[in-house]
Amino acid sequence: MSLRAAERRLRALYRRVDRQVAAAGPVCTRSGRCCDFARSGLTLFATALETDLVLAAHAPPAPERAGACPFQRHGLCTMRALRPLGCRVYFCDPRYLATAMSGIAESAQRALRQIHEEHGVPYRYAPFLELLARPRPAPA
Ligand code: SF4
Repeated sequence: MSLRAAERRLRALYRRVDRQVAAAGPVCTRSGRCCDFARSGLTLFATALETDLVLAAHAPPAPERAGACPFQRHGLCTMRALRPLGCRVYFCDPRYLATAMSGIAESAQRALRQIHEEHGVPYRYAPFLELLARPRPAPA
């Protein structure tokens, strides 16, 4: 298992997905709803690898509102560079949802699974808030 190499691949995948999403041009009105899960009814899923990449750099603060992502402040993401794939791919713009999102999301998910398989990293895909709260081994 090579975590460092897997994380490098994951960052490269994030960059690729960001380019695909930018090319699709979804509109974001910064309502903040997508990150406020209690308000939107959305559940953000991520892998443990994605979550551990976040946790290596950011301890999750207390959320502003119950049921919101702890990294959301005043409607904005405070750790954009490391946000999981689900955050990168989802926009509430109806045109984007109806045209580009599923293709981008499915191909990104396949690539994410492949990274886990090729680097021997167990594929644990679960709600992001659960993964953030799970007990983790102390660093060696
Ligand atoms: S990680 Fe950032 S973009 Fe993703 S749900 Fe949380 S605040 Fe929103």
